[in-house]
Amino acid sequence: MAWAAEDVGREVFLGFSAVSIGLFYGLAALAIATFLGGFFLRARKYGRGRKVGRVTLRSILSGLEKVATQRTVAKGDPYVGVAHFLVFWGFVVLLIGTTIIAIDEDVIRVILGKPEWQFWKGTFYVVYALAMDLFGIGFVVGVLMLAFRRRRRPARLDYRRVDLGEGDYDRSGYSLDDKVFLGLLLFLGVSGFLLEGFRIAAVDFPPFEKVSVAGWLVGTITAGWGPVANDWARLATWWVHGLAALGFVAYIPYSKAMHIVDDVVALMVTDEDSAKALPPVADPTRPGYVSLDSFAWVELLEMDACTKCGRCHEVCPARASGAPLSPRDLILDLREYADATADIPLWYGTGAEPAHRDATEVAGGVIGTDTLWACTTCMACMAVCPVGIEHVPTIVQLRRRLVDLGDVEPGLQKAFQALGRGGNSFGKSAKQRPRWTKGLDFEITDVRAEPVEYLWFVGDYASFDPRAAEVTQTVARLLHDAGVSFGIGYESERNAGNDVRRAGEEGLFELLRDHNLEWLREAQFSRIVTTDPHSLNTLRHEYPLDVEVIHYTQLLDALVTSGALRLGRLEGKATYHDPCYLGRYVEEFDAPRNLIRATGLELVEMGRCRENSFCCGAGGGRIWMDDTGLEERPAENRIREAVALGDDVRFFVVACPKDMVMYSDAVKTTGYEDRLEVVDIAQLLERARATVGAAVG
Ligand code: SF4
Ligand code: SF4
Repeated sequence: MAWAAEDVGREVFLGFSAVSIGLFYGLAALAIATFLGGFFLRARKYGRGRKVGRVTLRSILSGLEKVATQRTVAKGDPYVGVAHFLVFWGFVVLLIGTTIIAIDEDVIRVILGKPEWQFWKGTFYVVYALAMDLFGIGFVVGVLMLAFRRRRRPARLDYRRVDLGEGDYDRSGYSLDDKVFLGLLLFLGVSGFLLEGFRIAAVDFPPFEKVSVAGWLVGTITAGWGPVANDWARLATWWVHGLAALGFVAYIPYSKAMHIVDDVVALMVTDEDSAKALPPVADPTRPGYVSLDSFAWVELLEMDACTKCGRCHEVCPARASGAPLSPRDLILDLREYADATADIPLWYGTGAEPAHRDATEVAGGVIGTDTLWACTTCMACMAVCPVGIEHVPTIVQLRRRLVDLGDVEPGLQKAFQALGRGGNSFGKSAKQRPRWTKGLDFEITDVRAEPVEYLWFVGDYASFDPRAAEVTQTVARLLHDAGVSFGIGYESERNAGNDVRRAGEEGLFELLRDHNLEWLREAQFSRIVTTDPHSLNTLRHEYPLDVEVIHYTQLLDALVTSGALRLGRLEGKATYHDPCYLGRYVEEFDAPRNLIRATGLELVEMGRCRENSFCCGAGGGRIWMDDTGLEERPAENRIREAVALGDDVRFFVVACPKDMVMYSDAVKTTGYEDRLEVVDIAQLLERARATVGAAVG
């Protein structure tokens, strides 16, 4: 294509008087000032938060990659992923296009007075016009896809609260803002194409404008109105489109549109590992979050980044079991509280429940005590959140405050006391910890006296609970048979403190950790293996240890692969439950599956598996709390999911002592005890080993 550069281009203010142009610039200045004012209020709010260093080159690049690919939006929801990708890139290209016009017209021609420097013409203009139309079409299609989805009312976009009854709250402002936001985007896209069509018709369809495909099509339709009507339509549309665009700029910091800015920053500063290694208490004289100033600036920004997509609400086991907790509502409540405290005006009203405005405490006031104690710290919310919001660390900080105030659930209080006395939640003396070893026909090495390759950190449930202790004996036999050099800490071991910490008792966690570190530092070993995924997380991520810490399924997988453990074959089908602390926290999904397949069993996956696994309900100290008020316990919900796989799935395989306890109970309370056998992977291996002779014979 060869056009003379001077002939190819467009006039921005075609047919406008100087007064009209002046009026437009005046309104533009007003819109920008309104935007900057709102932006300043937001920045001031974030500035009130605690300083934490999160911005690194790596975090910025990682955030930009997520923003560019939109993969966190597409994760688990490809329809929304495609729609949002079109809207996002359409918006970016249209924004760049508008900026190019502003530079070429306002800066170079008007401010610098150098028309000879203008570049928005010739081939550059043709490429520009083509890109603007193609991305503009994608933008409109994406917005329509999102609007169409909303009309189908997906459950996750239902803003009803789980902790308050109908009529006790008002969420109409949220729904209105959603509609206005989408409506404005659609209006800007469609009116932009109309304006383009009127303009192309007004300048008699210059051939190079054929690249403006949508505008050209509109122009060919409206040209039939005649030049006078077309020009009136052009002028009217110019003003309507221009005013809508300026209105949108002004609207951003006071509405849902702020997520356009906040999400980009949130994805650049989010710490995906923040729940795995919790931050220490910042001020020991005042643990936990007391007021707005206690929150980190990142958390205040993340609250504004929430798009209310409801993904976290949908996957939360507490919400599913009828507990008064929705991670979405928790973030929105905190946002409302922060906005009310920082005097952020929102165009649709504050949205804040009056209680939030007047609450003197965040923990137990803005966010209810029962809501905070309902969390299992399963991290499912964080795993699905498209903008990287870190719910779990915030919940733990608020729990720390509850613990400091003495507002602790009675069962949890009892467990804390037992843990403080004997280092375990069972109320047993430390001497009783190695009692499970009595049933073995061999001695387990005492790591405090002899060096070993593997120090086996057994954990509380694996040591004290009778059902879990049976599995522990099985693991011991397998390791012994495979010739592994291993030993235990006998009565020196204490609860590793993972759940104590997540229940907000930082002081007790530190006591337990320091005790364990003392004997661990005196023992001689190369690696740590643990039965309990909860202990695995804290030993790996929160203990200052310089050794590899692995799960027993990882060790067993290596032993089976190397041939140190020979297996026969079992018949039948099994499903596997990914423990939250082995899956989402430590990202081990394959070792347990390898082992199940190695036994010959056919593995049938539940719909919620791997990183989308559904919590058993035990984590974060929940196992110590009363759950009689729940509509359905998470473990029961999970058992029903497994049963729905079909009659031929006989085994419900677990890899966590707490899961053994939770699911052994749930299979009884749901009445499926004869239908589904809850079995640990180690027990399956032992059964498969028992068939080795039969297989050979
Ligand atoms: S961590 Fe789990 S239980 Fe807690 S809010 Fe998130 S999804 Fe719900
Ligand atoms: S916290 Fe994240 S997942 Fe939950 S509603 Fe907000 S954006 Fe969606």
